[in-house]
Amino acid sequence: MASHYDVIVVGAGNAALSAAIAAKENTDSVLVVEKAPEYFRGGNTYFTGGIIRFAFEGLDDIRTVIPDMSETEVNQVEVGSYTESQFYDDMMRVTEGLADPELAQILVSQSLPTMQWLQSKGVRFVLAYGRQAFKDGDKYRFWGGLLVEAVGAGKGLSDQQFDVCAEMGIDVRYSTQATKLIQNQKGRVSGLTVLGPDGFEDISAGAVVLAAGGFEANAEMRCRYLGPGWENVKVRGIPYNTGDGIKMALDVGAQSHGHYSSCHAVAWDMNAPAFGDRNITELFQKHSYPFGLIVNINGERFLDEGEDFRNYTYVKFGRAYLTQPQGLGFHIFDEKVKHLLRDEYHIDQVTMARADTLEELAERLDIDPAGFVKTIEEYNAAVQTDIPYNPAIKDGRNTVGITPPKSNWAETIDTPPYTGYAVTCGISFTFGGIKIDTRGRVVTNSQEPVPGLYAAGEMVGGLFYHNYPGGSGLSAGMVFGKLSGTSAGQEAKALKGG
Ligand SMILES: Cc1cc2nc3c(=O)[nH]c(=O)nc-3n(C[C@H](O)[C@H](O)[C@H](O)COP(=O)(O)OP(=O)(O)OC[C@H]3O[C@@H](n4cnc5c(N)ncnc54)[C@H](O)[C@@H]3O)c2cc1C
Repeated sequence: MASHYDVIVVGAGNAALSAAIAAKENTDSVLVVEKAPEYFRGGNTYFTGGIIRFAFEGLDDIRTVIPDMSETEVNQVEVGSYTESQFYDDMMRVTEGLADPELAQILVSQSLPTMQWLQSKGVRFVLAYGRQAFKDGDKYRFWGGLLVEAVGAGKGLSDQQFDVCAEMGIDVRYSTQATKLIQNQKGRVSGLTVLGPDGFEDISAGAVVLAAGGFEANAEMRCRYLGPGWENVKVRGIPYNTGDGIKMALDVGAQSHGHYSSCHAVAWDMNAPAFGDRNITELFQKHSYPFGLIVNINGERFLDEGEDFRNYTYVKFGRAYLTQPQGLGFHIFDEKVKHLLRDEYHIDQVTMARADTLEELAERLDIDPAGFVKTIEEYNAAVQTDIPYNPAIKDGRNTVGITPPKSNWAETIDTPPYTGYAVTCGISFTFGGIKIDTRGRVVTNSQEPVPGLYAAGEMVGGLFYHNYPGGSGLSAGMVFGKLSGTSAGQEAKALKGG
């Protein structure tokens, strides 16, 4: 194996592989070092549903990303549009105006071109019928500005990106952990120390791109930054994202940036393992709560299940379970809405109970029966049944006179059998990281770039605060991966006089 590369990329998730592909387009030799063994490759990206948010004006744009759509398919879908300004507004709305405007602008303006670029490299996408569409007459109507997923979901995205890397001649070393950035006498990052199967090794490089994920799999850092209680949550993905990239960058003077005390977390099966399961992947999540109710073990509601489309609430609601007794919540549905439940409610490994009466359901789930029945009765009486129910839009069918209210999709719970699903908080990724500029360069507190150092993906801070528009983790990884990889490749090439 060579001991010098033009560009070394740290990590092998979506951001890293996008960076590696872009770097290889711009220079000659690129190495990817990945801490996980090959059989565990793909980072958190592997665990995703592979659904990706990007701006588009209409079906013509979608067809540039999915050129193999048949005419029959084209005629049976209503995709609407999701403009750059809508994407930008969503970013600002859900992050309470805190998203870095420059990074958010790059994300929204480059989201479609980056999807088109990956498509041109051979990555295939499809419409996400199962999760983002409702059948309305003879049309599938897509909602929420989020409608495309990678073929084969996260695993498919990851495998396809590895295939592109292999075709382009990008080297990948597995079971190889980056441990330290090497700087020359001028302060330029000139390589990397890695710990691989044969021990420590120094590899020199023209530029290094860090894309090693956040710190969600590091209990000590979770507790330190997110707060007490977070050391006990379940991790939805890989055990390898322990903040290494962030720490290495901080060690050479990078500016720490973003919402360190916040993260992406969701409702996750109470009995899911401590870290992600490669076979179940994201299916321990539970995202259909807008069509039912959420109660705690006392049978009390604690949030507005219908506040907004699921895409805009599932992340901030994930952490709400931690505030409840035993860190638990229960998603409750009746027979009327059963057909609206997402696939994840139907897997064999689900922690659920079914019963013909509310009391019996509460007993089976270890919820206080009296509290539970009282909550449901008060809720049923508060539902404004004269407002039409429509799961495809924010229908305004709400409750009146109860706290918290349910603002949309309020439907009485009165038709047995009743089902309940036990969930807790599962962390996906952290929001705090290091600062990059508009070329993907890592910058110091004085806004000066650290020469030779770039970053992308979860470990970049400043994009997500408090909350996150679903599907933008992958688009951010692709956009900033491509950006940093392109810049790193060009810099490395220029350095050697190419
Ligand atoms: C279950 C789940 C479902 C999700 N679903 C979606 C979705 O549908 N759409 C969406 O947009 N987002 C989704 N997300 C978020 C998404 O996973 C992330 O935004 C995205 O995958 C992050 O990509 P990344 O490349 O930054 O990190 P990762 O894909 O996690 O890659 C980081 C890589 O760095 C490696 N690494 C860490 N430390 C080192 C080191 N010292 N040396 C070498 N390598 C190292 C890791 O092993 C890993 O392979 C989901 C997350 C989870 C957990």
